[in-house]
Amino acid sequence: MARSSSEIREAFLRFFEAKGHRIVASASLVPEGDPTLLFTNAGMVPFKNVFLGAETREYVRAVTSQKCMRVSGKHNDLENVGHTPRHNTFFEMLGNFSFGDYFKGEAVEYSWELLTERFGIDPARLAASVFREDDEAYELWREKIGLPEERLFRLGEDENFWSMGETGPCGPCAEIHIDFGVNGRCRSAHCDPSCDCGRWLEIWNLVFMQFNRDAAGNMTPLPKPSIDTGASLERLASVLQGVPSNFDTDLFRGIMDRIQEISKIERGTNAEHDVSMNVIADHARALVFLIGDGVIPGNEGRGYVLRRLLRRAARHGVLLGVERPFLFSVGDAVIDEMASAYPELRERRAYVTDRIRREEEHFLETLSKGLVRLEEDIAELEASGSKVLSGEAVFKLYDTYGFPVDLTADILAGRNLEIDEVGFDTAMTAQRQRARAAWKGSGDERVAEIYGRLAADIRTRFRGYSELSGTSTVRALLVDGERREVAACGEAVEVVVAETPFYAESGGQVGDRGTLRVPGGVVEISDTQRPALELVVHRGVVTAGELRVGAEAELAVDADARAATVRNHSGTHLLHAALRSVLGSQAMQKGSLVGPDRLRFDFTHDAPLDDGEIEAIEDLANLWIERNAPARVREMPYAEAIESGAVAIFNEKYGDVVRVVQFGDFSTELCGGTHAAATGEIGLLKILSESGIASGVRRIEALTGLGARNHLRRQENALKTASELLRVPVADVPARIEKLLEDRRAADREIERLQSAQRGEASKDLTRDAKRISGVRVVAARVASAGAKDLRAMVDDLRSRLASGIVLLAAERDGQVSLALGVTQDLSDRFRAGDLIREIATVVGGKGGGRPDFAQAGGSDPSKIDEAFERLDALIAGS
Ligand code: ATP
Ligand code: MG
Repeated sequence: MARSSSEIREAFLRFFEAKGHRIVASASLVPEGDPTLLFTNAGMVPFKNVFLGAETREYVRAVTSQKCMRVSGKHNDLENVGHTPRHNTFFEMLGNFSFGDYFKGEAVEYSWELLTERFGIDPARLAASVFREDDEAYELWREKIGLPEERLFRLGEDENFWSMGETGPCGPCAEIHIDFGVNGRCRSAHCDPSCDCGRWLEIWNLVFMQFNRDAAGNMTPLPKPSIDTGASLERLASVLQGVPSNFDTDLFRGIMDRIQEISKIERGTNAEHDVSMNVIADHARALVFLIGDGVIPGNEGRGYVLRRLLRRAARHGVLLGVERPFLFSVGDAVIDEMASAYPELRERRAYVTDRIRREEEHFLETLSKGLVRLEEDIAELEASGSKVLSGEAVFKLYDTYGFPVDLTADILAGRNLEIDEVGFDTAMTAQRQRARAAWKGSGDERVAEIYGRLAADIRTRFRGYSELSGTSTVRALLVDGERREVAACGEAVEVVVAETPFYAESGGQVGDRGTLRVPGGVVEISDTQRPALELVVHRGVVTAGELRVGAEAELAVDADARAATVRNHSGTHLLHAALRSVLGSQAMQKGSLVGPDRLRFDFTHDAPLDDGEIEAIEDLANLWIERNAPARVREMPYAEAIESGAVAIFNEKYGDVVRVVQFGDFSTELCGGTHAAATGEIGLLKILSESGIASGVRRIEALTGLGARNHLRRQENALKTASELLRVPVADVPARIEKLLEDRRAADREIERLQSAQRGEASKDLTRDAKRISGVRVVAARVASAGAKDLRAMVDDLRSRLASGIVLLAAERDGQVSLALGVTQDLSDRFRAGDLIREIATVVGGKGGGRPDFAQAGGSDPSKIDEAFERLDALIAGS
């Protein structure tokens, strides 16, 4: 019974929903707030903090279909992709989760029931492996499921102990495999699922989450043992559709068709071509989903991974004989295939394909530059008689020019040359270490742990959507990252209370400030943060008395600051909507910062905005403000919100129930921030600046309300002052300034003319004093304090008056000497100005140099100027 992949995805979710699991939407491929991880690499990643006990959800069972990437870190399948039937870089992981609810027994039973009953897989084709020391799991499979011992294996840590990365949640696991039966390829006497002969296909991993591994490798038990499972849709589909590989499933059909169409090569006719097609199809999916999740090609971190994937794919295109941009078209086929499961792709289609196309064009250009460089390297190599291109050179081609190593090797082989592979590996390792170093240092682990523990027993309720003040009990105090019972006057403190009106920084909106009073103490709160989803800490200083755990506190948010922040936040939403309306929906939010005194909004767009666009955006936002549309705030399931057209932000992690903030029919966003009751409250929106902050990312800074009015007032005052100084009405200021600038230029020209006339007079006098030494006319004179530029002009002038001769001028200024020396053209083979001045400068204690016909020098001893003149005479006489 062949099932389509969308049926499989749906069936998986519904099966577990019926068993009390909440269906949670896939999180972004870019993990939120986890610098240890480049990409989401398993279904459990968005739940990491739930396993650690630092975050709670309103459900204890969940089921997801999670977008995953395995191209870096602990789980890296990049080199496998295309060569094995079962590996993709991007794939969807189907998984069920228990957060301290059920454990091994149910996990095993559910998986068996789904595979054999719902999906109808013949139990005789299934095998399982468990961690060697996990007797409990072994017994479960043996007794409860009745799996015969010849298809039940105990394997070691490498196979059956799962961890997300170097640190984080981990535990023993049980893996379910398809047994394709003995084949001729296996030479092992004890073939088990760890064998890569092709007999086994791992389809599902059930992880019994029990530990948290820290950076030192210590394993501490998790608060509650939990379940995390993962089975890729791609592998399940290959099994249920009875095809030989992930690439032969319906998920890839449209994509492969497109590649065959473009390359005019049929799949299945040549093994190497098949690999290339697999790689292209795989990478095209990765490109689409990464760019769709806000990653932009670049030279480091995620952007670099994206760039490399694209280059690899393009390179495989070349192997198929396609040497023009084509991946964007394959990306288009990916979106056709995936848009029903990921509707946001449809909206981002133009943006995603355009990005791919431009990056491809860029790469093809780089490739041709790399070829030129490689030719130079080869020429050098051949000249030197060596046969091996250094690892450094190969790495440089690869790193700077994006030139794939196998291509370098191919080209060299054609000339009977080779690459230094060891040298290349060394250079590569060094680069990896640099990259890894850049990803370390994710913050203070000790403090994170304290927060984690606090979050496990305190949950702060946020009441600040409707209230700006309230009372609550002080539940915990931290001073310098340590828990305390009391904080004294003058101490910086972090306060945790049971309920708070203070908004904790998130979604770009800054944390509230205000005051917290207890009987006998006051804390000025300067910031509010949320180290875990439901843990709020108020940061401040005890300014009077003391503060104790257990005290009843009066909390009051700084209402003015909050009101200003609210105007800026709602203003940001209107700005976002206006941007999309004026520039198109590819202008997507990349980040924002909303505080009481400003708002900053970063978005994807390729060109600077022109004045017309900025005005149109500002006008539209202000039009919506004038309409005074009321805010409509609702909570609803994520999927429903997206369907209704709400704009989700790149890289934001959303729970399954989201808060939707809507103004009129023009702005609907998923947002947890505080907002105006109606757009009229914003008052006015004024864009201050627009600039580029990274390739493809622009930033707008703007003001609203009072801030905008103050800004306009300042501008107005500056203009008024200008009009008073210029004594013209404001409207005439620009014309007046233009006139003044014109006058100024005329005056400069006049000064220049007069100076030059003056120089002429002075030179005329000097030529009269010219002497003759060895037949050469020589002028050597002091001139009144003049700058280097004037000296030069005078030397030029004298040279042309003399027609033939040598000129040396000296000027004294602030105890320093400037010398300038000119030699006329006809004497240039006898005297070189540079050589002469070098000698002469030493007399006045300085240095100099210049061209054969003109040279300058400085010196520090004005009393020696006459001596310098004598030296010139002597040099000429002695020549
Ligand atoms: P393998 O050894 O085959 O690479 P794994 O042990 O790395 O698999 P897990 O980390 O246990 O896999 O991931 C859980 C499940 O995710 C696997 O059982 C498989 O169904 C799926 N999976 C893992 N890696 C990939 C991949 N690169 N492409 C497609 N599916 C994958
Ligand atoms: Mg693997």
